[in-house]
Amino acid sequence: MSKLYDVVIIGAGPAGLSAGLYAGRARMSTLILEKAREGGQIAQTAEIENYPGSLEVESGPTLIDRMTTQAKHFGAELVYAAVEEVDLSGPVKTIKCTDATYQAKSVIIAAGAKPVLADCPGEKEFTGRGVSYCATCDGAFFEELEVFVIGGGDSAVEEALFLTKFARKVTIVHRRDELRAAKSIQEKAFANPKIHFLWDSVIRNMAGDGVLSELTVENVKTKEMTVIKADEEDGMFGVFVFIGYKPETEVFEGKVAMENGYILTDPDMKTDVPGVFAAGDIRVKSLRQVVTATADGAIAAVQAEKYVDCGG
Ligand code: NAP
Repeated sequence: MSKLYDVVIIGAGPAGLSAGLYAGRARMSTLILEKAREGGQIAQTAEIENYPGSLEVESGPTLIDRMTTQAKHFGAELVYAAVEEVDLSGPVKTIKCTDATYQAKSVIIAAGAKPVLADCPGEKEFTGRGVSYCATCDGAFFEELEVFVIGGGDSAVEEALFLTKFARKVTIVHRRDELRAAKSIQEKAFANPKIHFLWDSVIRNMAGDGVLSELTVENVKTKEMTVIKADEEDGMFGVFVFIGYKPETEVFEGKVAMENGYILTDPDMKTDVPGVFAAGDIRVKSLRQVVTATADGAIAAVQAEKYVDCGG
């Protein structure tokens, strides 16, 4: 018979790790399941200057390393496994992964969100050969080359700024004529001489011979198509896509109440299923940040403890 955990936490991003820390400190038997690597989206963030207490020195990976160490220090187990199926209905919840099935008295869903694709011909073919979704991971490959960043939100503009450390020229391609990003981030981008803008523009095709070296861009106002080719000397350029995120809720569909694909919770992180909580970017909320994810995780763990202590 497999161990019955007090709580199984699905996802080891800031929400899941924070839940793991609080559950561990409450002496709950705690298992965190992570399908890829700790950190979720934040593992790909170069600079975090808006998490209280962190300033220029903080990066996503350094913050996540400390969160992981802290959760483990208080007894949370971390297992790398992808959740394939869940049964959350009864007092004993079942979480089926690729190689094992786990049981728990309570579950905290903190599986986060994944990047939205640009959805144009050539994108899949050139992923890893010019197209990227992670500036921290791939920025250094574009030393002294030209790169394009798709999007106009905080992620796009922050990552464009980061890419100026490597690239010769960074062009933000945005479908409108103004950015969505916070004003403070916009100001930095407008002041950076390496950053250029292609407004009202959408990339319609990505092409090249082995590596990405040609883009077709449509001006959505004039409908004019422009083909942009890499400098002959460079032979290639990069495209970084930052146009939002999609919640990782596929396996929970029909199991907990959702709205537009995000999980609905009350302010205590309770879903509509007893003993099942959600925390972080995966739930319906107004601000998706590390600081709100960690707060969600803490609340979810405290509520899970109360639920388990009351006998479910
Ligand atoms: P976002 O705020 O949803 O912005 C997505 C951007 O991509 C928007 O500018 C949007 O254009 C554009 N876009 C969406 N779909 C597109 C498509 N199919 N083709 C072309 N462009 C498209 O996403 P995000 O920047 O990833 O941020 C997600 C959340 O994380 C936000 O709440 C953000 O504040 C937060 N975040 C915060 C920080 C920070 O504070 N340091 C850093 C990163 C992220 P429109 O503007 O026209 O809609």
